[in-house]
Amino acid sequence: MVTPTTAPELAEPHLRGLLASIGLDVEYVRGSGDTLYYRDTDGAEIPVLDLVGGYGSLVFGHNHPRLVERARELLEQQVPVHAQFSYHPYANELAHELNTVLRRELGVDEPYHALFGNSGAEAVEIAMKHAELDRVVRVGALRARVAETWAAVQASAPAVPADVTERLELPDTATLDDVVAAAARLNEESFTRAPVFLALEGGFHGKLAGSVQLTHNPGYRMPFSALAAQARFVPAAPGATAAAADAERAEVIVPEVVDGVLRLTVERSPVVAALFVEPVQGEGGIRVLDRTVAAEIRSVADEAGFPVVVDEVQSGMGRTGRFFAAAHSGLAGDYVLLAKGIGGGVAKSSVTLIRGSRYQGDFELVHSSTFAKDAFSVHIGLEVLRMLEEDGGAAYARAAERGAALRAELEAVRAEFPDVVSDVRGEGLMLGVEFADLTASPDPVLAENAAHGLIGYVLAGHLLRRHAVRVFPTASAPHTLRAEPSIYLTDEAITQFGSALRELCGLLRKEDGAALLPV
Ligand code: PMP
Repeated sequence: MVTPTTAPELAEPHLRGLLASIGLDVEYVRGSGDTLYYRDTDGAEIPVLDLVGGYGSLVFGHNHPRLVERARELLEQQVPVHAQFSYHPYANELAHELNTVLRRELGVDEPYHALFGNSGAEAVEIAMKHAELDRVVRVGALRARVAETWAAVQASAPAVPADVTERLELPDTATLDDVVAAAARLNEESFTRAPVFLALEGGFHGKLAGSVQLTHNPGYRMPFSALAAQARFVPAAPGATAAAADAERAEVIVPEVVDGVLRLTVERSPVVAALFVEPVQGEGGIRVLDRTVAAEIRSVADEAGFPVVVDEVQSGMGRTGRFFAAAHSGLAGDYVLLAKGIGGGVAKSSVTLIRGSRYQGDFELVHSSTFAKDAFSVHIGLEVLRMLEEDGGAAYARAAERGAALRAELEAVRAEFPDVVSDVRGEGLMLGVEFADLTASPDPVLAENAAHGLIGYVLAGHLLRRHAVRVFPTASAPHTLRAEPSIYLTDEAITQFGSALRELCGLLRKEDGAALLPV
């Protein structure tokens, strides 16, 4: 056996080095509620207030006793964790429970089917694959219908007027057969257009080969852009979705015969496979989707015929005060993605919910994972859902109330340090504190770390060492610290965070960067 302290670092050594340089390479040995513990040199447990909350996974905190008990029960009962390709009635139950909440919060009137996976990025990739399969099926149906229409028109031998040959850039001597062949060639160009995904600027949808293409941050995405279908990024601003949908418009030529004369009409061919949107952008800096933009996304997608994928991987499972964060803006997705919180902090799973009328049953035969829909994580998911839904949804009310209390403290800090804290935003227990830009600071520590996108980590390192508060920047907006604690966040914890931030803001006001670094 090698001893972990002397052995060379083989498990992501580069990251360890980076964490160490800002004092974040702490080994936590225990977690309970909103507290993580590490050991000091004498072996005593030192508590740390954990506001990262498993990056949004821990709606009920670390190792909630009821979820730990459920996990223990399942293992003691020898539940068959791995029994792929058998019947999983508990998965059906979870799908029904989720449908009940979807109907209640978003008013959807048809069932959504559930596809299970293991992580947030996998939920995204399942949605991407399914949406593309659905697009290909729709293109196939359109191609067949258009071909039939052309065949029927050809058989009726209509007259070919000059505007038709002109439109197809044919000589005016062109025959009906020439017209049919030219239209077929043009149509084929539309039918074979590569799929396009639309995603909002600032969005984060994972880091796997496909999903990273939808993650706006170029640092994560660009090295891998040759690996999969590309996204077009749309500003989360009025008018932008309509413009993006228009830019991707493809049409096919469909004939009709009026009084024995050939006429050409056009129909839209599906190019956009789906539009991905987070109701509250997590890694993009805790940005709540604007209601007007949400409504526009829905209506543009309906008009153009592509599905909206609402990524609730981080925002879902109750932390915003509703089960689905999209309930705040009323955006009913055709796909809804859940992960993180559905594992209750003790399991790893994800669910991709797909509107029945868009669902392709054949997808189930071409997509699977050894670990997906396993009894352990699905039963834990059911327990999490019970904990959220029981007592008339007391957990949601608690998330909203605790969120408001935390937000009030953060707003108070901002009011005292308006030159340092530029914004406080979010919904419920998904909050962000944005710091003013420090790239032009005369202090080299502040300016350089801000320029390299590391300032949030430097602030986090200080809060951890000096105040035993664990908080991190959002991945794509490093000026913003996020707080995503559990619904059990105490008043004492809020006060502890508030005082820690005030001390930090004092240093930033004095532009004392050196004081933020480990000694
Ligand atoms: N979507 C969103 C909105 C996320 O916040 C994340 C993770 N931060 C993901 C997808 C990817 O989830 P995972 O890390 O479980 O792959």
